[in-house]
Amino acid sequence: SDTSIDFVSAIRTIPDYPKPGIMFRDITTLLADPEVFRAAVDAMVSPYKDQGVALVAGIEARGFILGGAMSHQLSAGFVPIRKKGKLPHETIRVAYSLEYGVDEMEMHRDAVAPGTRVLLTDDLIATGGTAEAAVKLLRELGAEIVGACFVIDLPELGGRRRLEALGVSVKTLVA
Ligand code: 5GP
Repeated sequence: SDTSIDFVSAIRTIPDYPKPGIMFRDITTLLADPEVFRAAVDAMVSPYKDQGVALVAGIEARGFILGGAMSHQLSAGFVPIRKKGKLPHETIRVAYSLEYGVDEMEMHRDAVAPGTRVLLTDDLIATGGTAEAAVKLLRELGAEIVGACFVIDLPELGGRRRLEALGVSVKTLVA
């Protein structure tokens, strides 16, 4: 992969979004740059090339964009992990905490066969609450989680440690 690509500069920070005091990392600028998007996807899949990944699981919604491209690069399938009420077939569901209140995420009950090697992805890990919920769903289906990868880690929020405490190895492009 091309180490001269500056991923940090390709990500835009929007102050006070979605509310005052939050510095939102906006990856739409990275996705819109042909060279940087390709380099980001290449760098994200590179540690997993020989890991027998059969499925990439992407977290709604930005995890779908990255995960679709990663699936293609790995010749793997793709499965969506969605906000509740979006999947048409029979689902399993998990509740997880947000800053205020709780939300729920779902997968199709038949999305992953037991023992399948799955790579989890999303754009960003902050507290790790979202990714932890995804890990619970995948494990409920019997997935073997090869790892979890993100474009951005916000290390001060502890998400990486939270996932590693669950036995999931974490890789990120930028911290
Ligand atoms: P966590 O559950 O780790 O606290 O938050 C991560 C989830 O919220 C991810 O699904 C991620 O897409 C979203 N998220 C939280 N903060 C940001 C941010 O600053 N930028 C982006 N792009 N997503 C964020």
